[in-house]
Amino acid sequence: MRFPRHMTLELTAKCNFRCPYCYCLWHEFPQIGKPELDTAGWKAILDTCASDGVEDILFTGGETLMHPDLFPILSYARRRLPRAALSLFTNASLLDESLIKRFKRQRIRLATSLQGLATYGAMTGTRRTFRRLLVLVARAGELHWPISVSMTITKANLHEATDMFAAAALSGAASILVGPMMAGGRALAHPELMLSRAEWNATKDAIRALPDCGVPFTFCDEFFCECRNDQPAARLRRKWRDPNHKPCPAGRDFGVIGPAGHFRSCLHCG
Ligand code: SF4
Repeated sequence: MRFPRHMTLELTAKCNFRCPYCYCLWHEFPQIGKPELDTAGWKAILDTCASDGVEDILFTGGETLMHPDLFPILSYARRRLPRAALSLFTNASLLDESLIKRFKRQRIRLATSLQGLATYGAMTGTRRTFRRLLVLVARAGELHWPISVSMTITKANLHEATDMFAAAALSGAASILVGPMMAGGRALAHPELMLSRAEWNATKDAIRALPDCGVPFTFCDEFFCECRNDQPAARLRRKWRDPNHKPCPAGRDFGVIGPAGHFRSCLHCG
């Protein structure tokens, strides 16, 4: 099997946050998350990425900065795939200015998530506030290595969704991705946090009505992964099916390697 052009490598299932909306699949299927692949295994996967002509790789987790061999793996990726677009997703809790500079030197784009303002602690299952994250986003912009910001909207942070968007935009985010909480992973245990489709549509309208800050943004409309074909799928499909759903690129030009080293064709199903 050849790897698709676009790959996501989930380097670790470990994370220092406990987000109630976390869609990481190992919360449902623990075998995806462990035992974790060792560094030699990730390098072998990168060799295959190089020989198969993979064009871009997103390194994610879990929390990527908790991986003890993150930089050897990234350096290897850069050597083996010198022209590929490499990016890394982090919750930014361990990110600092010197790391931003290091990622810039290695031409690795950064993305993070802003999951609330007043609700940041509840949305991340921590005692943290949003302030440090926005300071980092602003500093990254000053360093000419701006960070992309994503945000997941739930019943808990719905009331401040437009403020979150404005805060990310005014802090200098490279781009913003906004989506509703998806039914999957740990989120399956928190159905009370999921928006209705009407709430999501109103949120999009409110964001579109904000003054243009010049920051590109996109919406992810998925409430439920349409690729799923397992036990809870029928119930979820009845509740959340999108009448306007268009097939996603899963299985065509997109692939995922989970923390235990197994290939999947979709981020949200096994
Ligand atoms: S959503 Fe991301 S930051 Fe939150 S618990 Fe899951 S992996 Fe960690």
